[in-house]
Amino acid sequence: MSGQLAVVGLGPGDRRWLTPEADTALAGAEALYGYGAYLDRVPMRPGQARHASDNREEGARAAAALRHAAQGAHVALVSGGDPGVFAMAAAVCAEIESGPDAWRNLDVSVIPGITAMLAVAARVGAPLGHDFCALSLSDNLKPWDLIERRLVAAAQAGFVIALYNPVSQARRWQLGAAFDQLRRLLPAATPVVFGRAVGRGDEEVHVTTLDIADPARADMATLLIIGSAETRLITRPGRSPLVYTPRSAETVRA
Ligand code: SAH
Repeated sequence: MSGQLAVVGLGPGDRRWLTPEADTALAGAEALYGYGAYLDRVPMRPGQARHASDNREEGARAAAALRHAAQGAHVALVSGGDPGVFAMAAAVCAEIESGPDAWRNLDVSVIPGITAMLAVAARVGAPLGHDFCALSLSDNLKPWDLIERRLVAAAQAGFVIALYNPVSQARRWQLGAAFDQLRRLLPAATPVVFGRAVGRGDEEVHVTTLDIADPARADMATLLIIGSAETRLITRPGRSPLVYTPRSAETVRA
């Protein structure tokens, strides 16, 4: 029997945002690997083994799933959101690149999921309606000065910025420092969206502007969308505001 490894995106929230393809891959797996909080979102199925691991052990978790698949098993490795966005699919590729030759013969598939920035964007309108980029604010895997350079370049180039991993227990000052940089480059009224635990029971979405955006609003489950100079905020009586970035470049200033 030849082994299979499916790297499966669970989407950002509950099962409404799990694709049918991901559901089928999960149902067909003999063993599930993943960070414990993500595995908890997958319904228990009889006869299916579960291997939960710590969030920081990405390489070890990917290697364990590959070793298991190399024994001939059908293994699913789960990720929140999309597995290719700041998540496990890249860890699996890195382990295959540096691992035993046999791992290159495995049937490896990546099953996409809705990534957090799309879910947050959908809640407020269309902030990603024109050119945008995604950055992770985590300096666990890259130096802070590189993160700052990329933020500044993105803002100067007129990209809307989706900011993943804005804070963690060990990273408290970075988001404030990022806002300080962006305030030097973008208008005070630039819309900022805080989307927390979107698609889950404890979801919170908050729309504000860059001049008064409070870093303390963000936690590990928050994704931020920071507008460009073109991004508009439409207030509506009795309803939450809409945020959108027009598709026409006519308004883009040189
Ligand atoms: N692979 C995931 C991202 C992993 S990085 C994806 O594609 O979405 C983890 C970061 O994703 C968190 O710090 C947060 O910024 C964001 N995130 C994940 N789930 C979220 C949700 N339900 N609501 C808002 N942000 C979320």
